[in-house]
Amino acid sequence: EVKRSGKNHVRFYSPELDLASGNLVERQRELRNALVQRQFMLYFQPKLNPYSGELNGVEALVRWQHPERGIVAPQEFIPMMERFGLIVELGNQVLELALQALQRWLAADRAIPVAINISPQQFGRDGFAEHIIARLTHYGVPYRLLTLEITETVAMADMTRTEAVLSRLREAGIPVSLDDFGTGYSSLSLLRVLAPNELKIDRSFIKDLAQSPAARVIVAPIIEMAHSLGMTVVAEGVENEAQADVLRSLGCDELQGFHYARPMTGEDFARWCFEQPSLAAVPA
Ligand code: C2E
Ligand code: MG
Ligand code: MG
Ligand code: MG
Repeated sequence: EVKRSGKNHVRFYSPELDLASGNLVERQRELRNALVQRQFMLYFQPKLNPYSGELNGVEALVRWQHPERGIVAPQEFIPMMERFGLIVELGNQVLELALQALQRWLAADRAIPVAINISPQQFGRDGFAEHIIARLTHYGVPYRLLTLEITETVAMADMTRTEAVLSRLREAGIPVSLDDFGTGYSSLSLLRVLAPNELKIDRSFIKDLAQSPAARVIVAPIIEMAHSLGMTVVAEGVENEAQADVLRSLGCDELQGFHYARPMTGEDFARWCFEQPSLAAVPA
């Protein structure tokens, strides 16, 4: 990717460069070490009912708690982990952390659904569905409480296999969400074949929803079609009340975005819940 910076300069941009200096061998060693040291943690971002304001669940978003650099965002390390073949191990750790959070909340009588993001390599592994099922069983977490967010790109890599994996998950009752909807190929037939439980409309469509009639013309039929296929619709990246108003008028089922809450640590999420008048206490 080429980015223009200033008038005459063109510099090559790659996510690797964002993590200070050092060569690839050093980066790889550092990421491997971060996995061994369990330096990854989850932030949680609430997903709300647009009409009642109730908490419908959370999306778990990974962060790297770097000993010197502090909290590092996923765009800074996920591309590298994919490249180094470390993303599957990261995905496994994310799964464990999400199930531990679910277990903690369940122990306090709070069944809060958690969504995790699944990378293409992770989804592509043999026995993916069985592994998820085994871990849910191990933690004693009801299958319906863990949603798997996949993207269209993940799904399209090998359609025959994808269909088999998705039908296995459907059989087990593990919800699947199609993330960043609208940014990929988004073919209607793909949607019918994948039959996800939920569709997450990409942030880019939500952005101009309040000002641009064109954006509304795109989002309205997506919601309508998803509903007629029996899917739940989530809007991501809701940043103001005007956007929320439009989404409510279009019948959107769930809202997620900075307008309501940023992704936060488990502790901050517990505090956030405590401050919501409609919610009972959630343990950290
Ligand atoms: P995503 O799954 O689409 O997650 C939503 C992203 O939008 C998150 O960024 C979230 O912080 C951000 N966001 C939420 N509300 C707003 C808003 O109102 N405005 C704006 N501008 N942004 C908002 P984050 O946490 O940096 O994650 C970025 C991406 O990294 C995720 O996009 C997902 O694709 C990936 N990712 C995060 N955690 C994991 C993980 O555990 N495994 C894998 N494989 N990928 C992950
Ligand atoms: Mg997501
Ligand atoms: Mg998304
Ligand atoms: Mg997105």
